[in-house]
Amino acid sequence: MTGHMAMTASGQGGYSEGLGNRSRKATFLCYHSISDGGPPFLSLPPDTFERQLASMRRHGLVGGGTPALRELASGSRLPRPQVFLTFDDGYLDNHVTAAPLLAEYGFRAMIFVLPPYVDAAGAFDWPELHERQQAHPDVMRSMSWSMVEALAERGHEIGSHCQSHPHLPDLDDETLREELWSSRERIRSRLGRCDVLAYPFGEWDERVAAAAADAGYSYAFSLPSDGQREATALAIPRINVDQRDKGLRFEAKLSPFGRRAYLSEGAATVRRLRRRRGVRREASSVPEPAVPVTGSILLVCSPGGHLLQLLTLEPAWRDLRRSWVTLAGADVSHLLDGEQVTFAHGPTNRSLINLVRNLVLAWREIRRRRPDTILSTGAALAVPFFLVAKLLGRRCVYVESLTRISSVSLSGRLVYPLADAFFVQWPRAAVRRRMRYEGGIL
Ligand SMILES: [Zn+2]
Repeated sequence: MTGHMAMTASGQGGYSEGLGNRSRKATFLCYHSISDGGPPFLSLPPDTFERQLASMRRHGLVGGGTPALRELASGSRLPRPQVFLTFDDGYLDNHVTAAPLLAEYGFRAMIFVLPPYVDAAGAFDWPELHERQQAHPDVMRSMSWSMVEALAERGHEIGSHCQSHPHLPDLDDETLREELWSSRERIRSRLGRCDVLAYPFGEWDERVAAAAADAGYSYAFSLPSDGQREATALAIPRINVDQRDKGLRFEAKLSPFGRRAYLSEGAATVRRLRRRRGVRREASSVPEPAVPVTGSILLVCSPGGHLLQLLTLEPAWRDLRRSWVTLAGADVSHLLDGEQVTFAHGPTNRSLINLVRNLVLAWREIRRRRPDTILSTGAALAVPFFLVAKLLGRRCVYVESLTRISSVSLSGRLVYPLADAFFVQWPRAAVRRRMRYEGGIL
């Protein structure tokens, strides 16, 4: 009953900005297995996880739980920014591998288990998992109750992930209630409480959220692959973390700007179209279009979406000596913390004087840094840098924005004659002979 009361207090249908995963004060991440060589999308190597924990600690983040959720839902200010480290399914390695690392770095987590699987401490076997179960039988298994209890004793919160990992919106009312209710009761009888829920597959709708409230949950987490604009206590959007999240790609997820981009409708549209065309990438391959660059590199872009796309191209440039040119903007200093950054003159649109200034800057930067390659995702800043780079005999690589689905931006058209390689992120955007489509980057 208390859970229901808390839910009512925080407002089931009420929009809560603090729970929206778009601010510096609260970051919501979703993990699965922490293992080496685990299944694509569902695992992260322990050494990468450790580097992420170190980074989060460096950023001054603390591991949040239900008390912090209550504060956020009520609009209170938290003294320190929180990161909610949620783990779905209750993998054996959460106890064996993740928990010691969490303890070492002083983070607590929220772990969502399926009681029938915990009973058997056995193999996960819902239909969507079949292939991965065959390929990774040692990874795809549940913790036992004694492990779950040990985690709860160490201060981690244990929540429900339902009984059978169903697609909740597809269930009839009775089955829906049973999945939500029984799993919560089982966990409560073992641990004394169960206030939080992670929807299996992250899937929910209004009926599911109402049923979760009726079953007594105070908070529930989604995993919106199609974007989610609003957040309530019973629909808190998380961002998935998997083995692709190294270095700056993970840093982007810690920044409010990066999370806004990942949860945006633009990114959702891209994923949806990609799914429809069956071009969903296997995560075993790092998402990198063939941008063949060597030596040293100068990365040029405006802030915002252009910067995010350049960050997601990290596999193409992470091993190179590099420097950046961008404009001052939201979160640039956070996103590029520790990188060598020069700020260009803005605004770049319709400003002849800034174009001249940026030409001078480009001349100075390219002579000073001596990059072999200039890589840009746009927009207008690419023009002066490509002009000067060509004069000085450097290689220019341009990646058109993923928002350009069947055409090319003005900046793209201007730099096309100068570019040694020109990539588009949609097949139909390859409107000129030398424009190449090799997949999307977000
Ligand atoms: Zn799950």
